[in-house]
Amino acid sequence: MLSYYFEDNIPLFGCSLCGKCDGFIESTSLIHIKNRGCCWYFPKYTLMDLKNILSIGRVDFIHELKENEKTVISNYHLEVKGYFDEEGYNNYGVKTIEDFDTKLFFRLCPFSTEKGCSIDFKLRPHPCNLYLCRKVIDYCGDEYRMFSKERRDYYSYMNYFNELLKRELIDKKIDLIKDFDKTIEFISKYEVPKFEPRKLNSLSFARRAG
Ligand code: SF4
Ligand code: SF4
Repeated sequence: MLSYYFEDNIPLFGCSLCGKCDGFIESTSLIHIKNRGCCWYFPKYTLMDLKNILSIGRVDFIHELKENEKTVISNYHLEVKGYFDEEGYNNYGVKTIEDFDTKLFFRLCPFSTEKGCSIDFKLRPHPCNLYLCRKVIDYCGDEYRMFSKERRDYYSYMNYFNELLKRELIDKKIDLIKDFDKTIEFISKYEVPKFEPRKLNSLSFARRAG
């Protein structure tokens, strides 16, 4: 089953196979946590991701990110670095399988636990909430089309307003490195229209998953 949820300007694809995907290339884990699904991503928070988090009143989470020793602060985004077993990867030898970068077999998101993601979906960068592996997309068949459109439209929306925000910051000569607090305050006050989500009915792929 694939479902769609949208709240506080933040979308979420809910997939009933996530966490039960042993044997999928994207979920292959050669590190200590075996059931991490595709949580090999190192969360990257764009200005618009920060804006969404500020809009739900969680400036405290942004300060936690700032204080996190794993966070790399760039001018216009924050990235929280996770675990990478470099030695394991170098010993592995194979660089790609089915066009998939095997480096990801050896990576783990810093928020991933044996019980799944440790943060609420509204505190994740948007790619986390809209990513689906190739097998799930395949199981969805043609019905995935509207989900795909929704995903693309949301990405376009986020990218467009991210770029506008960035230009405003450039004009103001501030950014996350030069003055973190002032930049966060500016992002918080900057007005951005809300995304208008589609109404998407849940789709079932249990039959195809066999
Ligand atoms: S998107 Fe695919 S690989 Fe990722 S957790 Fe879900 S089923 Fe597993
Ligand atoms: S933030 Fe959560 S959903 Fe995103 S990659 Fe990390 S553990 Fe997975």
